[in-house]
Amino acid sequence: MCLFCKIIKKEIPSNIILENDNFLAFHDINPKAPIHILTIPKQHFNSFTDVTPETMAQMTSFIQEVVKEVKIEESGYRVITNIGENGGQEVPHLHFHILGGTKLKWGHFSDSDPQGHF
Ligand code: AMP
Repeated sequence: MCLFCKIIKKEIPSNIILENDNFLAFHDINPKAPIHILTIPKQHFNSFTDVTPETMAQMTSFIQEVVKEVKIEESGYRVITNIGENGGQEVPHLHFHILGGTKLKWGHFSDSDPQGHF
């Protein structure tokens, strides 16, 4: 069973912010910003590549609820999902990072030439 499936089953503790029948939001154990929350579907999908449009629609509403819960809907935030090896995904269970609570930087994603592909 994957790490986040164990968190869903409460076999591994987490710092939960919001939960319903289908989704869970909890604090990232290694925060990259003052607010760093992970939102996951309880159904296991390996990544965004596998998720259904129906689950994504519900996930959108859940993320909107979470940002209201932690009161960052006005100040702004970033939603990220890493996919696969090149995407930097470490946990193979679909999750969306919600980052906020400060002015986030934007920039350096790789050491490759950004003009190099096309
Ligand atoms: P990713 O690299 O997109 O797969 O993100 C995985 C995230 O899970 C990282 O930001 C980790 O800090 C976080 N993480 C790993 N283990 C735990 C845990 N037990 N509780 C909360 N967050 C975790």
